[in-house]
Amino acid sequence: MQHYHIAVLPGDGIGQEVITESVQTLEVLAQLHGGFRLDTHEFDWGSDYYLREGAMMPADGPTILKQSGFDGILLGPVGDPRVPDHITLWGLLLPIRQQFDQYVNLRPIRLLPGVRSPLANKGLADIDMICVRENTEGEYAGVGGRVHQGTNDEVAIQSTVFTRSGTVRIIRYAFQYAREHGRRKVTSATKSNSLQYNMVFWDEVFAQVAADYPEIPHEQQLIDSLAARFVSRPESLDVIVCSNLFGDILSDLGAALAGSMGLAPSANLNPERRYPSLFQAIHGSAPDIAGKGIANPIASIWSAQLMLDFFGEHEAATLLMRAIEDVLTARQALTPDLGGTATTHQLGDGIRTQLRTLA
Ligand code: ATP
Ligand code: MG
Repeated sequence: MQHYHIAVLPGDGIGQEVITESVQTLEVLAQLHGGFRLDTHEFDWGSDYYLREGAMMPADGPTILKQSGFDGILLGPVGDPRVPDHITLWGLLLPIRQQFDQYVNLRPIRLLPGVRSPLANKGLADIDMICVRENTEGEYAGVGGRVHQGTNDEVAIQSTVFTRSGTVRIIRYAFQYAREHGRRKVTSATKSNSLQYNMVFWDEVFAQVAADYPEIPHEQQLIDSLAARFVSRPESLDVIVCSNLFGDILSDLGAALAGSMGLAPSANLNPERRYPSLFQAIHGSAPDIAGKGIANPIASIWSAQLMLDFFGEHEAATLLMRAIEDVLTARQALTPDLGGTATTHQLGDGIRTQLRTLA
């Protein structure tokens, strides 16, 4: 029997509330399914830790995660009104992403049954895409600087870094994903009319990699008009591959189209499995509802589902997705963001009850 070691980092705000539901759901699934076991180890890293210790995690945090032999990491949202955003991001998530070479950020954008898209009144409700975002370089490489700070001569420069190996591997991953999952098309988000070095380079690599996948239709579109197409013709999109910044923006747009920030999952993958991959809801720590027990746990539970799928536990992953869809379709026990009155725990329980029914 497979035995998975999972590191659990609940993070900030609603993190503990939603991650608890993910862990409980995984445990029920493991019992019902019987084909795998998992154990979890929780770490209290995040903004409270920062306010206590002066860092978001111990200096050797990634080493601890690596040496403990974890197969996967479940991370809650990280962010706190008392801590500047760049500290929370650069103190925890980005070092883990980079040191674990999680170069694929996979974000399903799918309108689940029973969920109302803001586009519904236009008759557009057929949304099923997957955003493959480059996750280790590009606009978020952290290269740049500021001079003459605070004076009228101040200059701030933020450079982008696009390497050939980094660009090839993310685009190849997107085509490979399309091939393995029977997807119909790969769209590359670009901006080569105004960014004449990095984006023109990206376009060249895209064309070269596409040549290895002749059976998969592909296209390139400028990010601005692609964003408009997300809203006007989302049904025409399938796999989207893009740089770090563009993917960040497009996937929040996609999450909103798919009905609620509380539904959108993501996976930060090291596809070669040299390092543990990380699974995380897209939403933030939602300070406005933290502690009230009303956060939607589905984004977090769906992220755990992506982890099972990545582990190769396809049967269990399919079962869990089915239970999530059934609960949404039944429209019972939904949290306020979905128009219901249920608590976080009641929605989690609803999914676990449905799992028991299906199993
Ligand atoms: P951060 O800086 O941590 O990203 P933010 O305020 O920018 O925080 P979110 O935390 O994602 O962004 O919150 C945006 C809005 O979506 C808030 O009104 C929040 O309450 C809501 N929201 C986010 N996640 C959920 C969830 N899981 N369930 C219900 N509502 C949510
Ligand atoms: Mg935010």
